[in-house]
Amino acid sequence: MATWLCVKRCGACCHLDPTERPELEDYLCAEELEIYLSLVGADGWCIHFDRENRDCRIYSARPRFCRVRADVFQDLYGVEPEELNDFAIDCCQQQIEGVYGDRSPEMERFNAAVGWEEESGSGE
Ligand code: SF4
Ligand code: SF4
Repeated sequence: MATWLCVKRCGACCHLDPTERPELEDYLCAEELEIYLSLVGADGWCIHFDRENRDCRIYSARPRFCRVRADVFQDLYGVEPEELNDFAIDCCQQQIEGVYGDRSPEMERFNAAVGWEEESGSGE
């Protein structure tokens, strides 16, 4: 089965443009929404995202909504811990498709890293 992990030099989820995430208000409280919007740069990318190295400049202090953790995903999205793996893989694929494209090298690297088989639609 496919196992979620965050691949290096991706950063697709750091493209925060709120026009591409219309459901933000459904899962972020007012305080977190304010933090989220304060991070959005003029180009739609997070102001803390290092575009050259494709990594987070404040990784250890990044907000809660940037963290792929069972307690965070349960609280924000109502995802049960046993569903986290598949949910996170789907989230990353959607985000990578939106930012880099569904046939991009980033998508290929992600799918290979997590062991996701395109033919079957899952890693099983
Ligand atoms: S989209 Fe997924 S793989 Fe890419 S940086 Fe975000 S968490 Fe990591
Ligand atoms: S704080 Fe870091 S992990 Fe969160 S969106 Fe910005 S660059 Fe990405």
